[in-house]
Amino acid sequence: MPSVSSVSSVSSASKRLFLLAATLTTFTAATPHPPAPPPQKPVVLLVSFDGFRADYLDRPAAVHLRALAARGVRAERLIPSFPAKTFPNHYTIVTGLYPEHHGISANVMLDPILGRFATGNDPSGRDARWWAGEPIWVTAAKQHMNSGIIFWPGNEAPIGGVRPRWWQTYDGAFTNTQRVQRVLDWVAMPGDTAPQFIGVYFSDTDDAGHKYGPMSAHTDSAIARADSAIGALMRGIDALGATTRVNLIVVSDHGMAEIAHDRLIPLYDYVSRDSVTVVDMEPVSSIIPKPGAEAYVYRALKGAHPHLQVWRKGELPARYHYNTGARITPIVALADEGWTVVASRDSTVLREGQLRGAHGYDNQLPSMGALFIAAGPAFKRGVRVAPFENVNVYPLMAAVLGLRPAPNDGAEAVVRAVMR
Ligand code: AMP
Ligand code: ZN
Ligand code: ZN
Repeated sequence: MPSVSSVSSVSSASKRLFLLAATLTTFTAATPHPPAPPPQKPVVLLVSFDGFRADYLDRPAAVHLRALAARGVRAERLIPSFPAKTFPNHYTIVTGLYPEHHGISANVMLDPILGRFATGNDPSGRDARWWAGEPIWVTAAKQHMNSGIIFWPGNEAPIGGVRPRWWQTYDGAFTNTQRVQRVLDWVAMPGDTAPQFIGVYFSDTDDAGHKYGPMSAHTDSAIARADSAIGALMRGIDALGATTRVNLIVVSDHGMAEIAHDRLIPLYDYVSRDSVTVVDMEPVSSIIPKPGAEAYVYRALKGAHPHLQVWRKGELPARYHYNTGARITPIVALADEGWTVVASRDSTVLREGQLRGAHGYDNQLPSMGALFIAAGPAFKRGVRVAPFENVNVYPLMAAVLGLRPAPNDGAEAVVRAVMR
């Protein structure tokens, strides 16, 4: 092939033509077909809308979510694990383990060695010793697959010594638009560094549900914000030409129940304050009796209030799957739907206008039902499936990504019902 200097006398246009012809000739001689770019790999994009109750999907604002469901699979509801709280359930969704098996058995916990666990920007979130089991991003990393995570509980801790390739310290002020853009940047990312598992968390619906109640206009606005994030993701994925390789799974962690200001269970009316450490209170109370007070505390609380169920650790009905975890307290009490456990009758937590919704009640209640939509090349189209438990989401994601799952509490049947 002539060097560029040997054609320096010809005009620049014909020089370009000549170079192009020479290049084509060279390619033709060397390889009959230009090598195709490596195919981009399938992606699982897991989106969580905190506290998005299953029936919110039928509220007027959920336009894009319904459109997504129409081209994929929608569950009547995703059954949260007990307790129907944020951290236990987000971690169940990504591990396939009931909270009694994965260590995060409540939003607030006490451990004799580790101390106190709390949500928000608490250092316990970054301490891997709290987080047992294997989240999907660790399963992926062990099998040489990258993940990118925005605010999924657990993403800040090096679980099993492994962190997702991209992760973020919790920052409630990071806007929905920024979250969507970061996800789309990951979907667009070329080559081997691209994450194939992407997880992203949004809090709007939980915030509004607590403050104003599930049926409020504020909650409709929050549903609209969630829906517009999904709309932006769908449009962005389309614009990237990635619709045929992105499997979008949209879930929530639990639903939301209306609470009544006159339905209070004043705990210390029934048991003396100095006989217990109450780790978490409403509507699931995690109670540690002081040494020697075990029998008294159980007797004092059992049957004390008609809307409060009380169990000793190990004696909860099997369907709760909440007996064996090391951080489950010796006494667990659970309020009936709409009731709130408070310290005393003069508690101000529920003063009019301060709190209108709660979750954590019996996880089988329709009001605790969560969202599940899956759409993409791996999933059936236009199908509605019966309610199923959220321990099944992990094995489903592993199957879509072609990963060998870690041992989990999910079942093959759900994977078969949802996947094409
Ligand atoms: P809940 O009390 O069960 O309603 O939990 C919801 C709250 O959990 C949110 O309002 C956040 O404050 C907190 N939260 C959610 N995700 C995270 C996270 N990744 N890290 C820390 N805190 C979080
Ligand atoms: Zn939540
Ligand atoms: Zn909440």
